[in-house]
Amino acid sequence: MNDENLSSENGWHHQLKSRINNVEKLSKLISLSDSELKALGNSSRLKMSITPHFLSLIDKNNTNCPLRKQAIPTSQELNISEDDLSDPCGEERDMVVNGLVHRYPDRVLLLVTNLCAMYCRHCTRRRLTNKKETSLSQEHLDNAYSYIKKNKKIRDVLISGGDPLILSDEKIESILKSLRAIEHIEIIRIGTRIPVVLPQRITPQLVSTLKKYHPLYISIHFNHSKEISKETKIACEMLADAGIPLGSQTVLLKGINDNTKVMMNLMHELLKIRVRPYYIYQCDLAPGTAHFRTTVATGIKIIESLRGYTTGYAVPEYVIDAPGGGGKVPISPEYIISKSKGNIIIKNWKNEIYVYPENKQTRVSREEIFIEKGVR
Ligand SMILES: *Cc1c(COP(=O)(O)O)cnc(C)c1O
Ligand code: SF4
Repeated sequence: MNDENLSSENGWHHQLKSRINNVEKLSKLISLSDSELKALGNSSRLKMSITPHFLSLIDKNNTNCPLRKQAIPTSQELNISEDDLSDPCGEERDMVVNGLVHRYPDRVLLLVTNLCAMYCRHCTRRRLTNKKETSLSQEHLDNAYSYIKKNKKIRDVLISGGDPLILSDEKIESILKSLRAIEHIEIIRIGTRIPVVLPQRITPQLVSTLKKYHPLYISIHFNHSKEISKETKIACEMLADAGIPLGSQTVLLKGINDNTKVMMNLMHELLKIRVRPYYIYQCDLAPGTAHFRTTVATGIKIIESLRGYTTGYAVPEYVIDAPGGGGKVPISPEYIISKSKGNIIIKNWKNEIYVYPENKQTRVSREEIFIEKGVR
């Protein structure tokens, strides 16, 4: 297969058909560790599917490869921790009609399919993706559109799954068209991992379909700079050239990206392909993912290592999606040290102390404002 074929309609169908989804196929392509073999022996529980594209990026000689750990299960995934929750973000609780989650006042989450090109080992929606592959029926979609139509406060629809971009161009267009027909919908968003795991899917035809439904935003799930292949760069360029603002969502994963150097590098590489870092998520409590979770202190340290040290655009918001359905809660380093007498005492990125006089009635001398450097 040549390069031209790979970026065509045939190219992505070929990638899908050639996915590696069992231990027999995988063990011919990569030498598996005992832990991986043990997990794959339990394949009835742990769905696996790796695109040839993603497999080509994996370091075959290193079981610690950050991409390998996201694609190939290990025996650690068989361990269920007592904190694990089947629906970690409480989405079922806020499901108003089949597939439609309405939690925040002005926006909804529409889960259109449970299919993905690749099944991530840390997937938070594995309660859905681990089930038989299915997409929302037309009847269920119509119910969702009716709900949105009736709720005039909804101005933003986030289409997710599974991976919505795995659907056919026709199906994607039908969903976008139906949402655009609702007058009070201002923006439409798509959450996807396709540009990383199946970049060939971003065809000129798909892009010209998407751009008919502006303003459209796309959030792409990226966890490591090694995921930014030549093909992924081309896919993101095509989307950005079509005027689609691109954002990233990253899951903080132990042993994969829980380190300041790896994260800074990822954020820089994203900006180079015109993807603006949006969220870093603390890893949710999905069953069998305890080995991927790191401390919240690690996440805060990563944000501290970015803020001030690099481009503001390279600093995403670090959030915990509160277990049970509390929604996204921003977790930030503490920059306010105290508030007193109308003054706010703040700490900058270098740990230096400054005073901001908040109360105009209070006169503060210049000496007080510029407290000497190095004072902690
Ligand atoms: C994440 C999420 C959204 C979108 O949140 P933003 O912060 O606006 O990106 C909407 N609904 C649900 C249920 C979500 O989990
Ligand atoms: S692409 Fe998203 S929904 Fe699909 S398996 Fe990965 S994390 Fe889960």
